[in-house]
Amino acid sequence: MLKIKQLIFASHNPGKIAEIKELLAPYGIEVLSAADAGLPDVEETGRTFEENAYIKARAAAQAKHIPCIADDSGLCVDAIGGKPGVYTARYAPNRNFDLGMDKLLKELNDTNPQNRAAHFSCVIVIAYPDGAYKAFEGRIDGNIATQKTGEAGFGYDPIFIPTGYTRSFAEFSSEEKNKISHRGRALQKFIDFITAQNED
Ligand code: IMP
Repeated sequence: MLKIKQLIFASHNPGKIAEIKELLAPYGIEVLSAADAGLPDVEETGRTFEENAYIKARAAAQAKHIPCIADDSGLCVDAIGGKPGVYTARYAPNRNFDLGMDKLLKELNDTNPQNRAAHFSCVIVIAYPDGAYKAFEGRIDGNIATQKTGEAGFGYDPIFIPTGYTRSFAEFSSEEKNKISHRGRALQKFIDFITAQNED
């Protein structure tokens, strides 16, 4: 089995890069960012989170000839047919998430308060230079609040209340959020896979 000591995380997002570096360091895996590896931004042309993550990971693996990972994530709201989904980053006017939240709350104005179910999804893909790949999915279910609360986190956190809680994600500490979040769950599955391989 392939023993991985170094991989590229095909991302330009400093928060995600720091998180993955920190999580894989105890397993002796060095993570290089897209910038470290001199990789350009890749256009997300896929129709699913998995396709987008795969597009980014595959482009990096083909360019650099070592295993590469990438992720894609977003918010899916049942009452509006799963929107914004893979378009979550682009749904916000000028990528301003405060405006994006206002837009979403407005879209849900006439929705029955019992019908505000939503989930965040995240898919992490590892792609190998020979074309093989594997995907890991994480999901957190919840509801869209009727107003924003909390200051922590990013994106749509102030209007997302995870199932079983009465607080929005923006009222969670990052440690508490990482334990149950879509990204935390996908990352844990990826870490379980990679560490099992490295122990073989
Ligand atoms: P991407 O995976 O970087 O393309 O992010 C997609 C978009 O989904 C982000 O720009 C955020 O707006 C939103 N998003 C993804 N994960 C989270 C989260 O944990 N909290 C709030 N918003 C998120």
